Amino acid sequence: MKCDNCGSENTFVRDCQYIFSIQGKEVSIICKKRFCNDCKSEIYDEDLEKETLKKAVRKYNELYGLSSAKILSLRTSYNLSQELFSKVIGCAKKTLVSYEKGTSTPNDNYSIILNTLIRKPKLILDFIEANRDMYTKREYNKIMRRLPYKK
Ligand SMILES: [Zn+2]
Repeated sequence: MKCDNCGSENTFVRDCQYIFSIQGKEVSIICKKRFCNDCKSEIYDEDLEKETLKKAVRKYNELYGLSSAKILSLRTSYNLSQELFSKVIGCAKKTLVSYEKGTSTPNDNYSIILNTLIRKPKLILDFIEANRDMYTKREYNKIMRRLPYKK
């Protein structure tokens, strides 16, 4: 890595505080930046920038987004298995599993559904009716038995 300013290859990486805003919300993280050891100017380092961006998105999701922990606690608040809950919200079981593990994050549609349920848990009853054709009569009865809310 070479300094654009003086051409020196004597550089170092230092932790910096980075404050940015996503969708009107402020997020602060510690990121790494590269500097020239001779003239002290900052040097653009693509790998460090990518790392910073990833860290920023992770932090944003932690603070304001749908974390895997929130999705898991939503489902368990309904006493529903992954299989039944995924049917109620209309997604594949393996999709829900990946949300709960944090290996993927919900797309816009599921984000809206899950955020809605987190804000108004009783709306689950509407989803159950709306996705009625996703489960058998037996599964339906099971869902209604386990649910802490009654119609
Ligand atoms: Zn320099």
